[in-house]
Amino acid sequence: MKQKITVLGSTGSIGTNTLDVLARHRDRYEVFALSAATQVDLMLHQCAEFRPVYAVMASAAHARELADKLRDNGIGTEVLQADDALQQIASHPEVDAVMAAIVGAAGLAPCMAAARAGKRLLLANKEALVVGGALFMDTVRRHGATLLPIDSEHSAIFQCLPEDRTSWPQRVDSLLLTASGGPFRQRDPSTLSQITPEQACAHPNFSMGRKISVDSATMMNKALEVIEARWLFDMAPDRIQVVIHPQQIVHSMVQFKDSSVLAQLGTPDMRVPIACGLAWPQRIASGAAPLDFARLAALTFEEADAVRFPGLHLSWQALRASEGTTAVLNASNEIAVSAFLDRRLAFDRIHAVNLRTLEAVSPPTLGSLDDLLALDAQARAVAREVAGQWSL
Ligand code: NAD
Ligand code: MG
Repeated sequence: MKQKITVLGSTGSIGTNTLDVLARHRDRYEVFALSAATQVDLMLHQCAEFRPVYAVMASAAHARELADKLRDNGIGTEVLQADDALQQIASHPEVDAVMAAIVGAAGLAPCMAAARAGKRLLLANKEALVVGGALFMDTVRRHGATLLPIDSEHSAIFQCLPEDRTSWPQRVDSLLLTASGGPFRQRDPSTLSQITPEQACAHPNFSMGRKISVDSATMMNKALEVIEARWLFDMAPDRIQVVIHPQQIVHSMVQFKDSSVLAQLGTPDMRVPIACGLAWPQRIASGAAPLDFARLAALTFEEADAVRFPGLHLSWQALRASEGTTAVLNASNEIAVSAFLDRRLAFDRIHAVNLRTLEAVSPPTLGSLDDLLALDAQARAVAREVAGQWSL
């Protein structure tokens, strides 16, 4: 029997890479549902190729446009348009696995729906876990969902860790997340205020969505990944370290109690962690080129510079603070990055907005998804106000 897959955020960088891998294995997988925010024409193209049962767009206007075009092209995909349409396609009884590739906290509710329905959940959408934290992990556990990391660092760590989770505390010493250092690893920190969105989005090794590209440039991406690792692997924050590795060949490492270190290597191509998550514990072809060791240049490692990347350390601070602080950090960062991409905020103010918002918002006790979404909304409002004060 073929596995039925829902791809949330199918028009994005992870979404299109996922469809690339799925297209290589039509004997194993079929696409059940796709979702996107606004890209109607790309979605039409994807529906024509994969013939999903359902497609979801983020607004009624885009949904109508897609439905008209599908009808004109004789494609039978049904466009769902309800507030909970993403939750529906993430938890539908026929679905085996959900690729969570929406960007930002907007992906939290559908991730939680997939977890509650006990699905195999392939998590690229790191912000969902950063916001969801303990509640997200409890939901996964209580409903017997299978959570598999797609973020390349976490996929690497997952592949290096022993399969028996109960043995981790006794065997594992620490996790070493590698970071590319982004496009400004060697830039004079006094010039960071002049960086444009185009420069920030020109990542040296990868083509990614604009939000994660900016996060890579500030290293807030790594801060979010430290938080993600804390939850995925139930690891104390002080046992998670970050090391810069510009070549992005070593995707991350696990250090054991005897100081032995296991690393996972590969060409920097997101189809590798995607294929790994889809097929686990089996292995399928990903389409990525294998490493050619004879032609590989030196692999180098260096410490992250706290002056150039002040945001990185917010992850450990937020994890030590009260529950919900990581949700505040994420919301603030989403607002600050979007203001920077709209040319309303200087690059080096992203961190300043995050700091101010963290100071201004004290998270209440959190018991439910609604509590988290309310805190997310509150932090966004504060961050918008702070960013407005520094508006260009
Ligand atoms: P992207 O911007 O290229 O794609 C985002 C997708 O989500 C698009 O399909 C878009 O239409 C959809 N979307 C955006 N906002 C939405 C909303 N409010 N409601 C519904 N749909 C919405 O982003 P990406 O680079 O593919 O990243 C997706 C996620 O994967 C992010 O959380 C990112 O951090 C993570 N990730 C990406 C990479 C990468 O190489 N691109 C690597 C690791 C992790
Ligand atoms: Mg990553």
